[in-house]
Amino acid sequence: MMSARILSFDLDDTLWPVAPVIAAAEESLFSWLKERHPRAAHGHSSESMRQLRARTAELFPEQGHDLTFLRRHALAQQFQAAGLAASLADEAPEVFFAARNRVELYADVRPALTRLHSRYRLFALSNGNADLERCGIGDLFDGHITARAAGAAKPDARIFAQLLIAAGVRAHEALHIGDDPLADVVGAMRAGITAVWLNRDSREWPQQFAPPERTVSTLAEIL
Ligand SMILES: [Mg+2]
Repeated sequence: MMSARILSFDLDDTLWPVAPVIAAAEESLFSWLKERHPRAAHGHSSESMRQLRARTAELFPEQGHDLTFLRRHALAQQFQAAGLAASLADEAPEVFFAARNRVELYADVRPALTRLHSRYRLFALSNGNADLERCGIGDLFDGHITARAAGAAKPDARIFAQLLIAAGVRAHEALHIGDDPLADVVGAMRAGITAVWLNRDSREWPQQFAPPERTVSTLAEIL
């Protein structure tokens, strides 16, 4: 921590609980579909669209890190199956994103990040596709590395390498904080970056991984 020059943060389930956000975004997408393109919605639900997306992910394992691609491709197929133009799916990402970025930050996030930002450069490092500006936290970050832009998702070392390049620091000068034992903690440690496991709800550390160097239960503890 003493030698850290930059801090990187996971987003989903680190800065806000993600399950309600995704559920609301999927519902909002389905409502849009029912209203605007009822033929494509016919016989579908948010759940069946999720299954369609999971099958798309199996068909395109090399695109697994690109959730926007998977969502768009699955929807294009849904339009085609209903005898409609696949290009109608082009509007859908915007519908989804509008809801996807309506996040509710955990209470500790803004106070802790505001203080940390006065001492460190802060980066977001995310496998998801949240937009920092639209989430209302763009002012707290100096950069955002996404799996989509890096071409690889955490725990892949390539996304951590992109972080170091973007920040212009070496591995020992970075500290990564996140909730996911494999993606955030094991991934960062494999890339030579000190990792802090954010364990908000007293989960057990998975036995199969070497234990994290540091564990906190709120971001306030990082201060
Ligand atoms: Mg997370």
